[in-house]
Amino acid sequence: MTTLNETHNPARKSWVESANTATTDFPIQNLPFGVFTAPGRDARGAVAIGDMIFDIKAALEAGLFSSAAAEAAKAASLSTLNTFMAMAPAAISALRRELSDLLLQGSQAEKLKGDLLVAMKDATMKLPAHVGGFTDFFTSLDHVTRATRVLRPDAPIPPSFKHLPMAYNGRASSIAPSGVQVIRPQGQQGRRDGGSTFGPSRMLDYELEVGIYIGAGNEMGHPISLRDARDQIFGLCLLNDWSARDIQRFESFPLGPFLGKCFNTSVSPWIVTAEARAPFGVPARARAADDPPLHDYLSDARDQSEGGFDITLTAGLETPAMRAKAHAPAPISRTNLNTLYWSCAQMVTHHASNGCNLSSGDLLGTGTLSGPTDESRACMLELTGGGKQPLVLANGETRTWLEDGDAVVLNARCNRDGHVSIGFGECRAEIAPALA
Ligand code: MN
Repeated sequence: MTTLNETHNPARKSWVESANTATTDFPIQNLPFGVFTAPGRDARGAVAIGDMIFDIKAALEAGLFSSAAAEAAKAASLSTLNTFMAMAPAAISALRRELSDLLLQGSQAEKLKGDLLVAMKDATMKLPAHVGGFTDFFTSLDHVTRATRVLRPDAPIPPSFKHLPMAYNGRASSIAPSGVQVIRPQGQQGRRDGGSTFGPSRMLDYELEVGIYIGAGNEMGHPISLRDARDQIFGLCLLNDWSARDIQRFESFPLGPFLGKCFNTSVSPWIVTAEARAPFGVPARARAADDPPLHDYLSDARDQSEGGFDITLTAGLETPAMRAKAHAPAPISRTNLNTLYWSCAQMVTHHASNGCNLSSGDLLGTGTLSGPTDESRACMLELTGGGKQPLVLANGETRTWLEDGDAVVLNARCNRDGHVSIGFGECRAEIAPALA
């Protein structure tokens, strides 16, 4: 686990007042990295603080960083964070320490706040990195069990599930930051008579997942040991792996998901670093006594004892009727990253185990993060039993699948006694009708 240091000190408060409330996702102990634009500011790197954005490029131009952190600050000020993500954890940590000091109550930086801060409401968030590759895993035992029951009621879970972290190669070009609408995809759907129909998906779904941004990466042909994999995880975001179940079901056998998935993948714009999450580490999920033994490359005592993360994750559904009345989204999923059968580090190590090269800024999705309870079902496929039992929302509306005008909003929080809670910000997207 990353060592706790002064940046985690719960007594630290910022001169940015909105960062000192109990409910903010972005207290001074968090400092997630992202890329924004605003009037008069081209795309550039930043950290979130309360309801404000701290402009790293402006701070660099004001000469606020020491020589020890200047190189990292320069990389973190660019319009994509790939170079920064590839830096050594010590360099990233040194910059975090200086950012924390600059934002600390009493810092002289407050005098420059007109240059350094931009209100989130006045900014547009961009994708924080050039994502060269996107892989989506399938690592929740509860999700695979329920999804298998719905799709193939008599089938066992896939035979390799407990041997390796399963995944498919996704599409990087259609990853979009929170706020970009999802145009309902069209595609082929199978008919009961054996024929097929082409048209708008009628089984549009969300999947509540966490995204993992790769740090330095590895050279082709050179695997990443599980011991080294933690340092290869630059940070985490929220990820919605939008899924058209009808298109997916017809096309998937035997090569896996294709057009049922790659029309859009939403991510939250702020990346919560490994160091920010350090107070919230937990043991990885214990394997059952009758689970197959782990191969050596997927087995590490340290990963088992501290490879999990206690992150509460929620999904809410905002219908047009709720929006018209300015009502909050109805809660539909509440789960935790610690439900994963495979750890994030095991996903990284398995991905590179054949010599596949991961590059800085590559994105891995954990897979739908469903847990054992009903409230932790993290997609409509599970919530409605494959469309058989409509979901009844708090205001009495029902949904079998997602409808045009619906927005899905993902959030995440880390809480632990003795530490300041941190959040991930929002991953939100609204569904637009299929194009005529
Ligand atoms: Mn997925």
